[in-house]
Amino acid sequence: MKTYQQTDENGFYGRFGGAYIPEVLYKTVEDLKQQYLTIIESESFQKEYCQLLRDYVGRPSPLYYAERMSQKYGCKLYLKREDLNHTGAHKINNAIGQALLAKRMGKTRIIAETGAGQHGVATATVCALMNLPCRVYMGALDVERQHVNVERMRMLGAEVFPVESGNKTLKDATNEAIRDWCCHPSDTFYIIGSTVGPHPYPDMVARLQSVISAEIKYQLQEKEGRDYPDYLIACVGGGSNAAGAMFHYLDDERVKLVLAEAGGLGVDTTETAASLQLGSVGILHGSRIKVMQTDDGQIVEPYSISAGLDYPGTGPIHCNLHETGRAKTVAINDNEALQAAFELTRLEGIIPALESSHALAILPKMKFKKDDIVVLNVSGRGDKDLSTYLAHKDEIDYGKI
Ligand SMILES: *Cc1c(COP(=O)(O)O)cnc(C)c1O
Repeated sequence: MKTYQQTDENGFYGRFGGAYIPEVLYKTVEDLKQQYLTIIESESFQKEYCQLLRDYVGRPSPLYYAERMSQKYGCKLYLKREDLNHTGAHKINNAIGQALLAKRMGKTRIIAETGAGQHGVATATVCALMNLPCRVYMGALDVERQHVNVERMRMLGAEVFPVESGNKTLKDATNEAIRDWCCHPSDTFYIIGSTVGPHPYPDMVARLQSVISAEIKYQLQEKEGRDYPDYLIACVGGGSNAAGAMFHYLDDERVKLVLAEAGGLGVDTTETAASLQLGSVGILHGSRIKVMQTDDGQIVEPYSISAGLDYPGTGPIHCNLHETGRAKTVAINDNEALQAAFELTRLEGIIPALESSHALAILPKMKFKKDDIVVLNVSGRGDKDLSTYLAHKDEIDYGKI
């Protein structure tokens, strides 16, 4: 039986996925495809990976019963606290896994792309830890906008390479990273930051993030006497935190999956990143996915208040979950995400990342039963977003909190 979490031999999830890559990368990607599962599932990899997740990242992340939020929304709400991880989000789980894989495959140089800088920081962190040279491609506009993360990467010893082509944002940084990979296919490992890119990346990243749902299972068993929730909610940019939180539940129909994508100023405007709802099928970064594009296939620059969600497409796993109806997708607008961020802050004393705030903004749109167990993945912490939050604090309706 074909299941939601498994790809076929060629990396397809329904009609999404695959590996559309230039000829020069064929051998490199084929080597990775042949080796990644064997390495990841080996005892020695698992030992080193799990040890780092525990002692370096700080896992398991708590599954926190949010009492005041539960009261407000009439359900039992648990927050999966990925915000407490080292470097402040879930991305480190994946970066550590891929860096360990790179070393085992004999690669001596790491490249990565980054938009807001979160994946770049996670990669630079892991490269410092493992003594690997690291170059991070970043759009020149993002280098300006995300100066603190650029300085963090440089302090960690990574070379940040500003990309001046195109719109000087994430898409252009990714193109440049792929170009670099094409020039150095044998010694360089490309650490991709989400469940995007050519097969086997989406599957590999989902597996490296699946520790999130593995923990949810035993944590819920301990707290509720059953190992599955009624609802699982996560935000989706490329899809890695959602894939990780949902991995072990994808084929469990008792669990309703809800994805929050970035609506920006609204799905009826041009300022949006809601590619699941508005995108059309195209090839981006080596994968067949839903993409924001013009009729003749030019990528449309996405917009969201949240830098981590303004990717012009969504990874193949979630395109398939959306299209088959396995997951319900909701577009959350900037103002709804901001309101949700202040609500969590005031009710629970947790300042979430703007990305995670999109998942939180799903709550007022749902109708729960009192006994429903709801798990919401708080993908990251809000330190990086403080200036945005403060710039909008007067727009918040404090009476609603
Ligand atoms: C990058 C990021 C996201 C979006 O990426 P996914 O791959 O969709 O998870 C979400 N939340 C935080 C905190 C991030 O840094």
